[in-house]
Amino acid sequence: GKVLVSGANGYIAMWTVKILLQQGYRVRGTVRSAEKGKFMSDYFAKIGYGDAFEFVIVQDIVKDGAFDEVVKDVDAIEHMASPVNFNPGDPQEVLKPAIQGTVSMLKSAMKNGTEVKRVVITSSTAAIVALNLVTEPRVFSEQDWNDASPKEVEELGSKASGMTIYRASKPLAEKAAWDFYNEHKAQVQWDLTVINPPAVFGPPIHDITSLKSLNLSLQTWYNMVASDSPKTKDALSQSPAWVDVRDIALAHVLALENEAAGAERILTVSGVCCWQEWVDAVNGLKPNPLPSHKFTLGYPEISREKVILATFDKSKEDRIFGIKFKTVEETARDTLEEFARRGW
Ligand code: NDP
Repeated sequence: GKVLVSGANGYIAMWTVKILLQQGYRVRGTVRSAEKGKFMSDYFAKIGYGDAFEFVIVQDIVKDGAFDEVVKDVDAIEHMASPVNFNPGDPQEVLKPAIQGTVSMLKSAMKNGTEVKRVVITSSTAAIVALNLVTEPRVFSEQDWNDASPKEVEELGSKASGMTIYRASKPLAEKAAWDFYNEHKAQVQWDLTVINPPAVFGPPIHDITSLKSLNLSLQTWYNMVASDSPKTKDALSQSPAWVDVRDIALAHVLALENEAAGAERILTVSGVCCWQEWVDAVNGLKPNPLPSHKFTLGYPEISREKVILATFDKSKEDRIFGIKFKTVEETARDTLEEFARRGW
């Protein structure tokens, strides 16, 4: 089959395309420039998939009909293009492409996607809960929605923090997708699957040239775990849920293949870890996979039991995907080895 992947040059999308190609799919990726497409073509040609990958430039995903041509003749769609930007000049810079880009894809799929059987959208745990507002231990599931961040953006407008605006973009885009699907499901022959990943870490294969140009989630991991910058006890006590980029990419492929994934939102989380646990993990790797760096020891007295509040129900993921998730040690080692391989 042939799969359309939007935002194909991104951190998660590059791995998704790679696994799709390895499993025998043909892939059409959308990117915003020829240069970004060429990086991908070169990368996949080098590993033997030159014939199975093509790219198309879709410059403005907000424009009506943006995806009308590219959905023709594909069997499935992975919509992954969405701004990951915590510092927008204006909230609409993030909200508009996130929401309207998603609706635009679904509209094109309805209009011209005559072969499409499933549309997969990359949402986030941010569509489930605003982690910054969690003050006591609680397990979150697919039943939960983050209504707090959209409300905050509505109230504060451009005074809302960039982080809050990004967090709001995810439930707003996901709700728009479900609304569209529920309204039109009698008219379309495809169904919708939503994947809700937490923070994504792990080795990058997309086009980045230095530690300064890492995508945002990996940048955060690097700053907290591997960089020389001083870190406070408070910062290392924070405990994001996380998943390895290769596992979340695999989830996007399994989402096409499992009948049971249809009409579901699926939390796909490896675990919840305080940053100190990552720091302990990298210090435990022998020999040091990134010899150019000496890692902070942090505050080994931080206790996981005391700092972890929000955790996530993994039962739906286990029932439908059953991914054997990478461990903290595997993800840390593979990421640092990849940095070292690039001479960083
Ligand atoms: P990246 O920043 O690496 O990739 C984002 C992709 O979206 C790029 O292809 C980018 O294109 C494209 N994009 C961004 N803004 C626009 C826009 N205005 N118009 C068209 N395309 C745009 O991010 P990730 O791979 O991390 O994220 C992919 C998806 O996963 C997003 O939906 C994100 O919200 C979600 N997600 C990510 C998490 C993470 O921790 N990384 C966690 C949970 C969800 P270009 O290169 O041209 O800018």
